[in-house]
Amino acid sequence: MSDIEIAQANEAHNMLPITKVAESVGLTAADLELYGNYKAKLSIPTLRRLRHASQGKLVLVTSINPTPAGEGKSTVTIGLGDALRLRGQKAVIALREPSLGPVMGMKGGATGGGYSQVVPMEDINLHFTGDMHALTTAVDTLAALIDNHLQQGNALNLDPRRLLWRRALDINDRALRHVVIGLGGHANGVPRETEFDITVASELMAVLCLAEDLADLKARISRIVIGYTYDRAPVTVADLGVTGAIAMLLKDASKPNLVQTLAHTPTLIHGGPFANIAHGCNSVLATRTALALGDIALTEAGFGADLGAEKFMDIKAPVLGKTPDAVVIVATVRALKYNGGVKLADLTTENRTALAEGFANLRRHITNMQRYGVPVLVAINHFVSDTPAEIADLIALCEAVGVTAVDAPVWADGGQGGLALADAVLAALQQPAHFTPLYAQATTATEKIETIVTEIYGGRNVTYTKEAQTALRTIRRNGWDQLPVCMAKTQYSFSDDAKALGAPDDFTITVRDVIPKLGAGFLVVMTGTVLTMPGLPKVPAAERMDVDENGKISGLF
Ligand code: ADP
Repeated sequence: MSDIEIAQANEAHNMLPITKVAESVGLTAADLELYGNYKAKLSIPTLRRLRHASQGKLVLVTSINPTPAGEGKSTVTIGLGDALRLRGQKAVIALREPSLGPVMGMKGGATGGGYSQVVPMEDINLHFTGDMHALTTAVDTLAALIDNHLQQGNALNLDPRRLLWRRALDINDRALRHVVIGLGGHANGVPRETEFDITVASELMAVLCLAEDLADLKARISRIVIGYTYDRAPVTVADLGVTGAIAMLLKDASKPNLVQTLAHTPTLIHGGPFANIAHGCNSVLATRTALALGDIALTEAGFGADLGAEKFMDIKAPVLGKTPDAVVIVATVRALKYNGGVKLADLTTENRTALAEGFANLRRHITNMQRYGVPVLVAINHFVSDTPAEIADLIALCEAVGVTAVDAPVWADGGQGGLALADAVLAALQQPAHFTPLYAQATTATEKIETIVTEIYGGRNVTYTKEAQTALRTIRRNGWDQLPVCMAKTQYSFSDDAKALGAPDDFTITVRDVIPKLGAGFLVVMTGTVLTMPGLPKVPAAERMDVDENGKISGLF
């Protein structure tokens, strides 16, 4: 059965009213703003109350570098949550919100898979509670206000060629990557070249995900640098005088959404910045709420541990005020064989040599995560094609580097398939965690970049293009040089070359540009070619999708 068929069979017979799910973690109907029977947002007074509640343990789920073979972080996070509940633990999950662009393309959804899913999966993967649309509207409202400012006399002296703010859509639409707007004469605006990002790549998504409450959201929005004047002075949203309007548009989007897994584990889904161009984690509010509601909060960070987990540790954790008590690295036999040189079509054939070869990728992620001083274990997301010998080899390879690896058939068996993993996580949570950040905040941007490249990616050094050097000078001149850095890099490799699989050594990372994101509170460091507006593939997933006359959706995944 496909993911959607499994989800639909469950949704028809088995979903609990969301008020019941909320009750299982001590929330009443008064804490919820209902969106139908199965989705709710948490109210602002409730979020305020929970902010001061005692915190549970935090488990961060991350993975090896993604491959077309699939890794399954969400699937494992959900299966692990269900398994911990079966073990009598009060587990609460916090996940990212899916972006519609990749749903129509080829990635699949973001609600897990098989018997480890969050429901109602169609709603969550499509319009959900409207957060993504609210964000898109807020991003484009700010863009419209900026262009109107140019049209109405440009009192702020904004240089139209140095504007940073871009429009956004939650659609993979390559035709909008570079556009010219304002054509058609005086009444139709000031002509200029600009770009569209996918909504999840916009700074506003990062702002929403890092904001601690509405007051902080407003403060962050006010600090966003929209561009520079002709004299190269930064201009912010506060200068434009529209902070209140943009924050107002995000009033509801700023509240975490509560849904459930197939086994009714409470799951907060909120915010979803991409990890290759943004910081890749669900909102601080969702993770904090999961920590307040559960004894164990499970959350994931996007793409591989070189991107999502590094950013979780160095960008999100300081805002959250909590570091992970354990890290679970998801690996699959298939993806490691792919890293070991096996072609996609041959991944179902046993190949222990390629597995051992591709293990280099997992080993580097293990070492990197151990560097943070937190207990680390490996979850093997079991695919039906994995052979017993391959699973045994992978467990032995991990044991040889001192790490427990657990076979976790959660996709096929739901929480039951994750019991051994749950036991290993509970054991890891008994071990002490002595979190050590990768870099001190009071270091320069180039020092931070070089630390990440040499210590996490395993690279030799960093070079900066002329454009990046100019950007860094601007950053220094404006006193932004000590902000955390958010690396924008291909998710497929430790290096900036998507084709360099495994654990490449001795490479140079080229920094093309450094973009200040004062609202998010970090500097985005552009390496290689990272697209902020994806395109659709030759055969988009959209061609398989349909809805019948009863409103039943098919072909979503
Ligand atoms: P990630 O969080 O790493 O992006 P997901 O958990 O969203 O990955 O899974 C991506 C897709 O792969 C989903 O459609 C899911 O059904 C599928 N998948 C995950 N694990 C397995 C598995 N063990 N067997 C088969 N398909 C799987």
